[in-house]
Amino acid sequence: MVFDKFRQFFGKKSENKNEKIEKECRSKIKKVKASYTISREVLETAIAAARESHPHEFIAMLGESKKRKNHIDELIFLPSISGGVSAIIHMDMLPMGMRVLGTVHSHPSPYPYPSEQDLESFSKRGRVHIIIAYPYTMNSWRAYSSSGEPVTVRVVD
Ligand SMILES: [Zn+2]
Repeated sequence: MVFDKFRQFFGKKSENKNEKIEKECRSKIKKVKASYTISREVLETAIAAARESHPHEFIAMLGESKKRKNHIDELIFLPSISGGVSAIIHMDMLPMGMRVLGTVHSHPSPYPYPSEQDLESFSKRGRVHIIIAYPYTMNSWRAYSSSGEPVTVRVVD
């Protein structure tokens, strides 16, 4: 009898825990739902630029299409002070009327994961951020939200 109560208690508790986890997952899915697309040409240009800059970092802004929401159809190259991870973009030099969705930069290492500095810069510079890692191919890049969560960016022709 006591054991049954014990089991009931813990059974109930773990049920609540599962509910909590499920809620968390749902809210994460909601956040991730804002997915993006990028034109293949733009992505290929960024990859080529990353390759050319090696072993230095390359950085550019991602411009949003004027016709399609959340679609990246432009790369905006800006004068930047490239110094390893801390490449600085001069935001005040953005062309007028440009809608910036986020950033793209390269890592001369095989790790397409944001550094602490990246996370700080992501939070200030738009909603979607692409990191292209060495060896700079269609398979060596990842995208993140402004808070550093992985996001889906679909390549479209
Ligand atoms: Zn980085």
